[in-house]
Amino acid sequence: MDLHVPTVNEFLEDPSVLRDKLMPGVKYDDFVSALEKIRSHAKFIVKTIEDFDSDNDPTITNGSFYGGIPRTSEKFPWPTCDKCHEKMMSFIQIDLSKFHMDLKDWKQELEEMSLDKWFGSFSGYLQLFCCTTCGKGSIRVVQIDDTEADTVRPGRFDDLVAESFAVKKVDIARFYGDYDFPEYFSLADLRSCDVTKEEANAFDECIDLFHSHGDKIFGYPTWIQGKEEFVCPICSTIMMPAFQFEGDGSGHVDLSMGDSGNLIFFVCETHPCVELMFSMC
Ligand SMILES: [Zn+2]
Ligand SMILES: [Zn+2]
Repeated sequence: MDLHVPTVNEFLEDPSVLRDKLMPGVKYDDFVSALEKIRSHAKFIVKTIEDFDSDNDPTITNGSFYGGIPRTSEKFPWPTCDKCHEKMMSFIQIDLSKFHMDLKDWKQELEEMSLDKWFGSFSGYLQLFCCTTCGKGSIRVVQIDDTEADTVRPGRFDDLVAESFAVKKVDIARFYGDYDFPEYFSLADLRSCDVTKEEANAFDECIDLFHSHGDKIFGYPTWIQGKEEFVCPICSTIMMPAFQFEGDGSGHVDLSMGDSGNLIFFVCETHPCVELMFSMC
């Protein structure tokens, strides 16, 4: 039995590997011409493989971890929700040095996406905060030599520990690059451009092999019940999906998102505006 599942890159190199995977009644030629037309819409994404540390230590500040209190300084103004004005919760802190090391073969893709504003010089920490009540978020990058990045968590945030998500330390994390295709709801937008109904149907049959479900950075959101759009409250441009995290059972934070939900952070490419979307059934 062949256990090798081709990656999207391999599909792009050689669509014939899919020949045996097509559902009965789907024409291979329709599929290949759909892939040819849709491939220009493929987006570079960053995926992760994570191993969790079972030790739930609320005092950690280094490395990557879900929940808890991230690495901050005395001066750091803890983000509050601009809707309910409550303090947001820390969703994740990501160690960007690891990120950089793992993705060094994807330098060109990363540069083309001009990710500097999100990841700085790819050192230090990326921190995501959220208000789960209002669907608002906040994102910041703390560079390693930033005076904002104290090595010790200041005691003034200790009162937030009880309300924060339980700490899930990511003991081993590996980042890798891949390509992502739109799933059913986003694909519908592209059909009118150039893909025939037959081609779209053929592509739909194999969408799970091309669309990346679960945790990812950038790419196409995994819509469960239809597509939604968010506009930046400052410039009115459509916000882009930046971070998607799988819900229940994923080992992240204790946040109910149904059987197959995702938490998605949308950002404005120009302004520091962040919206959250719970895509779930
Ligand atoms: Zn709120
Ligand atoms: Zn904007």
